[in-house]
Amino acid sequence: MLPFLQYCKQKSKSFLLKITGTNSVLGHRLWAKDFPKPTEEIKTKFLIVGSGISGLSACRYLKNNNENDFLLVEMENHLGGNASNGENRFSKFPIGAHYLPIPNKEDLELIEFLKDCKIYLGDDENGLPVLDDEQLTFPKQERLFFKNEWQNDLIPQNGISSNAKEEITGFFKLMDEFRIKKDNSGKYWFDIPVSKSSDEAKNLDQITFLDWLVNNHFQSQELLWLLDYSCKDDYGLGLKYVSAWAGIHYFAGRKNNWATNRQDQVFTWPEGNARLAKHLSEFVENKHLKHHLVFDVNSDKDNVEVLVFDNQSKISKKIIAEKVLFATPQFVNQYIFKSRKLKNFNYVPWLLSTLTLKNEFGGAEELAWDNVIFGTEGLGYINDQHQNLNQIVGEKVITHYRSFSTDNCKKARRQLYNLKADELKNLVLDDLKVAHPEIEDFIIDIQFHKLGHGMISPVPDFIFGVEKQLAKQNVDNKIFFAHTDLSGISIFEEAFHQGIRAAKEMIGI
Ligand SMILES: Cc1cc2nc3c(=O)[nH]c(=O)nc-3n(C[C@H](O)[C@H](O)[C@H](O)COP(=O)(O)OP(=O)(O)OC[C@H]3O[C@@H](n4cnc5c(N)ncnc54)[C@H](O)[C@@H]3O)c2cc1C
Repeated sequence: MLPFLQYCKQKSKSFLLKITGTNSVLGHRLWAKDFPKPTEEIKTKFLIVGSGISGLSACRYLKNNNENDFLLVEMENHLGGNASNGENRFSKFPIGAHYLPIPNKEDLELIEFLKDCKIYLGDDENGLPVLDDEQLTFPKQERLFFKNEWQNDLIPQNGISSNAKEEITGFFKLMDEFRIKKDNSGKYWFDIPVSKSSDEAKNLDQITFLDWLVNNHFQSQELLWLLDYSCKDDYGLGLKYVSAWAGIHYFAGRKNNWATNRQDQVFTWPEGNARLAKHLSEFVENKHLKHHLVFDVNSDKDNVEVLVFDNQSKISKKIIAEKVLFATPQFVNQYIFKSRKLKNFNYVPWLLSTLTLKNEFGGAEELAWDNVIFGTEGLGYINDQHQNLNQIVGEKVITHYRSFSTDNCKKARRQLYNLKADELKNLVLDDLKVAHPEIEDFIIDIQFHKLGHGMISPVPDFIFGVEKQLAKQNVDNKIFFAHTDLSGISIFEEAFHQGIRAAKEMIGI
């Protein structure tokens, strides 16, 4: 315990705090629709709305299939959506997605993309894929602060009871069984993309993961923490809220059957998945407009007319297209379309905090790429410089991840939007101080990034629910939809395939 005076002195320490986030002010104008009348007209065969991975992936598919008459519009000042990044004097850092696991061998389209990006370099003499070492996590990949010390690996190990050990082993054995389970037609029970999964296990979508665990006699504190952490990592929501199908999918969806010698690693970069968005952005060179918010859509028998507000020149434009693909989340689409009210699409808010720290932070102990703290609200922090090829001698840059796991995302979002810099600082430091009680002595600045609608919530009856299936359907073969929320699971692979699926539908393949 620190003496009170010293604590006060520490409390008075000042450093620069900056708040960023998605352009919610512009986004919220969709409610009022107080935009000027259009004064310009643009014609294109295909219009893609939204430059997240799904929108960019759709554009790549069009271009690869010789459909070059298309235009992409994006409301933000950059492409990438949730796969974007920031940069300060010392490092790039993700402001959203930060890694991609090794794909399944059946995922040929993703593997081909990795080949195009020179991440997958070919096969060796034994037929094993050769992957670019520099784009896979360097050691040490992860560590867990547990019982007052750092241990390697995220599974709690030191000093846990034999019961807990047995439960952990038993759980993973069960997941190995789920991983290979197929139905009579040869479909995996749990697959990526989700749409390829059999519905054989859809009853698991009716209960929460926690209920399923309790029914199966899993109760050790360490295992439940690990599973809660894992669910929050991919879904933002803990095991109390996600469906058992989603919880099991986290472990069983990835087959560990390609690049089998690399299964402990993931693809990552200092800027996170913005690297992958950059690769995809090559397909929209000179074919996109940033700062353009779509706010209305109307179609007749020949065309679709889309109204767009250019937030730089402050004018509205009319875009006339034969077909339009909305790669935007459904909470946005319901404001653009008059009759698209979806009540089950809920989104978990996230807060990402990037801290610049004096070089001495962490002491002699080397930071891992992923540093997780047992029992805290957050998901730990990423060492943003871990993948840098040059030795770091200056300041350190880390990004802390925190989702707001709740059954009332709307309330949590409102609270997050209202939090001031000092409150955000306390929220993040309370978490980090569990492992780094002196962290405040090292902070130079903190950038907070608020993501009000970070991830879709795969709560019971959502993934196999009727509403999600209906939301994916095109309108009159003219308007198409692609977004990770239509998968129910917010990961790169889902966005990538959503884009391909919708683009195929649009050009009639
Ligand atoms: C904090 C966080 C961490 C994550 N970490 C990972 C990770 O490590 N690995 C992983 O695989 N996935 C991760 N994800 C999931 C990530 O969201 C997906 O992988 C993927 O990037 C989502 O792509 P998308 O195209 O579905 O949607 P989005 O990224 O949401 O893209 C939608 C785009 O549409 C634009 N848009 C919205 N409305 C309009 C409008 N009216 N007009 C014009 N443009 C509009 C938005 O600005 C945005 O660019 C993370 C997500 C979050 C929030």
